Amino acid sequence: MSDPNCVFCKIVAGQIPSRKVYEDDELLAFHDIHPWAPVHVLIVPKVHVASLSDVDASHEKWLGKMLLLAPKLMKDLGVTNGYRTSINTGPDGGQEVYHLHMHVFGGPRPWAKG
Ligand code: AMP
Ligand code: ZN
Repeated sequence: MSDPNCVFCKIVAGQIPSRKVYEDDELLAFHDIHPWAPVHVLIVPKVHVASLSDVDASHEKWLGKMLLLAPKLMKDLGVTNGYRTSINTGPDGGQEVYHLHMHVFGGPRPWAKG
């Protein structure tokens, strides 16, 4: 259920502090420690699942809830002009933390043109 060496399991357990924006029995959302956008939150399942490649049908409910939560959080955090969602998976997907998480990037991005 949880991995003692996993940084996001430690956040879920309250052993590492985070700036939480949402919590229920299955999900936790908190601000990324190194934001890439004015609003940058991570949505994670409380259960330890290493990556999107490791999900199965028993995870269907909270996987759906992760997607439903993104627009709600952006609205709650005042993002009105769109946002980007990203689940990095595996080495070639740029995944660094091996506890499944969805990035949600909102607000104007410094690297965006125009
Ligand atoms: P990824 O490359 O998709 O695995 O992204 C991992 C993300 O986790 C990065 O954007 C990190 O800045 C973020 N991160 C790592 N440790 C923490 C932490 N303790 N609190 C909040 N965000 C973190
Ligand atoms: Zn974990």
